[in-house]
Amino acid sequence: KLDGVERFARRLGADLKETCVNAVDSASFSIARGEVVGLVGESGCGKSTLGRMVAGLLPVSDGTIRFEGTDVTDAKSAQARDKRLRIQMIFQDPMSSLNPRMKVADIVGEAAVYHGLTTRAGVTGYVDALLAKVGLDPAFAHRYPHQMSGGQRQRIGIARALAVQPEFLICDESIAALDVSIQAQVINLFQDLRRELDLTYLFISHDLGVVEHIADRVVVMYLGRVVEIAPTEALFDAPRHPYTQALLDQVPRLGAGRQTFRTVKGEIPSPLNPPPGCHFHPRCPMAGPRCSREVPRTISQGGHTTACHLHDGGTA
Ligand code: SF4
Ligand code: MG
Repeated sequence: KLDGVERFARRLGADLKETCVNAVDSASFSIARGEVVGLVGESGCGKSTLGRMVAGLLPVSDGTIRFEGTDVTDAKSAQARDKRLRIQMIFQDPMSSLNPRMKVADIVGEAAVYHGLTTRAGVTGYVDALLAKVGLDPAFAHRYPHQMSGGQRQRIGIARALAVQPEFLICDESIAALDVSIQAQVINLFQDLRRELDLTYLFISHDLGVVEHIADRVVVMYLGRVVEIAPTEALFDAPRHPYTQALLDQVPRLGAGRQTFRTVKGEIPSPLNPPPGCHFHPRCPMAGPRCSREVPRTISQGGHTTACHLHDGGTA
């Protein structure tokens, strides 16, 4: 399964590694232990690409990813590889990320045995304990992915991630494919696991209602750049960046669960050839002469970060 940006790049026959430089060109933020950070933006803005870079599934050509002080960008050293194992990713579609020929016992147990977290002899008990953690009966160990519902499969995906004892989970649209009632259950599971296992999350979602519910802080991306970072309440109550304001304008505050971002005015430009200056200027109602010429600086005030000329000297 390919993300929009990657699919676009493939279609143009572009080199994926090179394209990823464009897919995410300026994203700098840190996540504290135990924090849930939401990552939002329209489809194709680079959020999945960024998530995959952090998880080590896509190369980073320029920049650094640090985990607990260790540079894990390339995971060349044994220490970096060990740290990288503590970062696990949970995908949108459990059906396509679970091997259909493997029983749950093997899907969940394989990596744990490989990495020496349990033994061949102990793996059955290890898997049973993980199934209990994600709210499934031990009998599920003998099932194949097609013998389960979407929600059960996503719980297996979570159990598989937990099998290597991660500290940091990257959830990329992890509930988007589920029925609304099941979404709530899986969100509750994420929150229970956070408390129980002291987990940290990067929660990538196009669903602002879900992000408002689960995240402590929110990072907003537009065309490969971070445009705003703020505590969840501040972001939803008083968004500063015109792009964030446009996103929130589209979403009724109650029952926002079914809304997506596609209604922001204008088309999202190609990530391979983004507009100069502020990438958002062709769609921005506040744009002035500076906006098409100068890349806005990133300004932080009281834990609220914005990259817009209006917040850096007052005029666009
Ligand atoms: Fe709009 Fe200019 Fe701010 Fe970009 S820098 S968001 S174009 S006002
Ligand atoms: Mg995506």
